[in-house]
Amino acid sequence: MKQKNRWSVNYLFKKAELIQMNSIKVTFNCVVRAEDLPKLHILSEGSTVNIKEVKAGKEHLYITLVNPYPIGKECYLLYGESSCLIELTDVVRTKAFDQLFYYDGEDLGAVYSENQTTFTCWAPTAIEARLVLYKNWFTEEKEIFSFRREDRGIWRFSLEGDRNLEWYHFEVLVNGAWNVAVDPYARFVSVNGERAMIGNMEETNPTHWPIALNNISKSETIIYELHIRDFTIGKNNGIRHKGLFLGLTENETVDKEGRETGLTYIRQLGVTHIELLPVNDYGSVDESNCWDSYNWGYDPIHYYAPEGSYATDPYNGYSRVNELKQLIAACHRQQLRVILDVVFNHIYIWELSHFEKLVPGYFFRHDENGNISNGTGVGNDLATERQMVQKYIVDCVCFWVKEYNIDGLRFDLMGILDVKTMQKVATAVERIKPGFFLLGEGWDLPTALAENKRATMRQAKELPTIGFFQDQFRDAIKGSTFHETNQGFCNGNGTVLSQIMGGVSGSEHLFLTPQQAIHYVESHDNHTLWDKLTLSLPGETNVLKKKRHRLATSIVLLAQGIPFLHAGQEFFRTKYGVENSYNSPDWINQFDWERRGKFEDTVEFVKGLISIRRSHRAFTFSTYSQINKHFKWIETSAHCVAYELHQVGEFGTWDRVVVIHNASIEKQGIRLPLEGDWKVLVDEHQASLIPLYTLYNAGSVKVAAFSTLVCVV
Ligand code: CA
Repeated sequence: MKQKNRWSVNYLFKKAELIQMNSIKVTFNCVVRAEDLPKLHILSEGSTVNIKEVKAGKEHLYITLVNPYPIGKECYLLYGESSCLIELTDVVRTKAFDQLFYYDGEDLGAVYSENQTTFTCWAPTAIEARLVLYKNWFTEEKEIFSFRREDRGIWRFSLEGDRNLEWYHFEVLVNGAWNVAVDPYARFVSVNGERAMIGNMEETNPTHWPIALNNISKSETIIYELHIRDFTIGKNNGIRHKGLFLGLTENETVDKEGRETGLTYIRQLGVTHIELLPVNDYGSVDESNCWDSYNWGYDPIHYYAPEGSYATDPYNGYSRVNELKQLIAACHRQQLRVILDVVFNHIYIWELSHFEKLVPGYFFRHDENGNISNGTGVGNDLATERQMVQKYIVDCVCFWVKEYNIDGLRFDLMGILDVKTMQKVATAVERIKPGFFLLGEGWDLPTALAENKRATMRQAKELPTIGFFQDQFRDAIKGSTFHETNQGFCNGNGTVLSQIMGGVSGSEHLFLTPQQAIHYVESHDNHTLWDKLTLSLPGETNVLKKKRHRLATSIVLLAQGIPFLHAGQEFFRTKYGVENSYNSPDWINQFDWERRGKFEDTVEFVKGLISIRRSHRAFTFSTYSQINKHFKWIETSAHCVAYELHQVGEFGTWDRVVVIHNASIEKQGIRLPLEGDWKVLVDEHQASLIPLYTLYNAGSVKVAAFSTLVCVV
């Protein structure tokens, strides 16, 4: 460490902070007389920094400089015998800082080759930086190398030789303190992400990679959301790698009764996309003892490296990378596409984050009073509108698409992110992988960013290739998510017909294309549909609850737009009334394969609905003009929604499809659009692509209470 001109006397000054490129705010411990102000001066590594003027505010002094402050150099404010290090605080959140230090290079992090590894670290406010190198992850024995500062706040250093499997972190001297940070661009990390590893991404590919996928149109997407550990942790599912990435690579696994489990089970359901809850490194599960705790994983630490608790060896930097790639390859072999859930709205503990260590104050959003913004409700919001945060997100997303060959991304609390960043993400992924599926939670949350800049559902028209979870439809089907006893269409509420009609016809009132409408009635968040029905219908029999549940799932799977299922919804998944099971034990969160066996008929019912949807393109129109051309409402009595898709022969086997959702307690007679031999595909008991029976010369049809009927000619 270089020891520069450090003065020790500090009693007069409390703090001196650079708040603009040429403006310093000074806080004193005592009153300073106006006539003494000319005594203030600033020294930067031996030379004087010229002051233009000094103004006294209510509580502070404000110094304006003649020239912009020399960021990257250590500067002291002097007044007689007293001195104070000038800290770089609010300045990092100014536009001028963002412009001056925006770096557009593609080489951030450790770039490995057999002959040399080059490290590039962005830390403009540091006055010194160094690379600390370890031969293995556990040793304290280290080598230290000084970085060379370059333009735009970049620090760089190259190490000769093959450094594969060596470990490193960065240290930066910022605002008078040495901060230790793990490279935010680290592709490989040690147990609990404590150190980064130098590695060769080319060594991580599975034997057959990449695997070719059949073309499908974006509008045909059916998403199935699951958690790595939940899905395989159950006792009698025949899966060997329980709770691990590899558990989802196992083929032809069966339960005790010989029923398919694991990946094979998903394939036979017929969904097109698996959406995985976060798989990048998160902080809430101790990777050295992962079975003692559980978490969904919405607490990111490293965005470029996978989570270690899902790897067979969290100590080996390669294990998690290779095993996640094996999982993706295994899904692709089954023609299942993979969507990853990413949490770019906040970070686990911001004060300890590597971002904050490297460039304090820059990466997180602050309000106008300088307080950390907390629209996420979990302590911090990433300042995605800042250029280097935006670049980080776009770089990271592109890395996952190229390196892991993923097919989609789901942005957690996307409304925290800004519209421009999401537009850049959308453009970048489409360029790499046309048809890439993007979706997000467009909730409007109180973050310190102008409302019209947030990537919320209200801005959906600015984000035409991004899907949004459609909460109005969700709540209209089953009642408000946030009021346990509130009821929707399926559980007794007859006043929400217009929202149901809006949803089944593709949510045009909200979006530019039906692909933007993510239709769902259950996800990992909040009560499962089964639990919601239990709470909103006290005393209801299981027989009726099952009917209502099937009706709700049918509404989603037959609607225009993109259907989204929560794993286990197809057999009435329950979390035993736990509303937010993010850290609940395995027995609450597990995918219950026994329950699946118990409700096999409903699994078959859902499978039937999926096969019907996928067999005829009239269910998956990609434009609203197509929907409007072929969609027609059928008149019903109260508490029913019915419609026909007419003149649809060019899109599949049938020319006319009638869908009727009866949420009333009575059987309903519905007049059909024409008299004919109507083949029934879905009734209160079954759903099948092979017609269940034919209603000959029928001009009307009877639909059982709490059920869906689909018939075709
Ligand atoms: Ca972790």
